[in-house]
Amino acid sequence: MAIKLPTKRFKARYGRKPRSKFAAIEILQHANQKCPQCNKISVRRLAAGIWQCRKCTLKFAGKAYTLQ
Ligand SMILES: [Zn+2]
Repeated sequence: MAIKLPTKRFKARYGRKPRSKFAAIEILQHANQKCPQCNKISVRRLAAGIWQCRKCTLKFAGKAYTLQ
């Protein structure tokens, strides 16, 4: 099965270039990130700038879309 692009809902509104940019950001957003405390790849974004590790439950502030 093909990977469903999260940008499908944007349809053609934003054109090709910004759409691929949105796709990259959304993939980063939904990917697990590395926890600065336990170094496990189990950090998820709760909201813009708020991240939580599911292993050590550390909640911390980061960038709105990515950690690094
Ligand atoms: Zn952790």
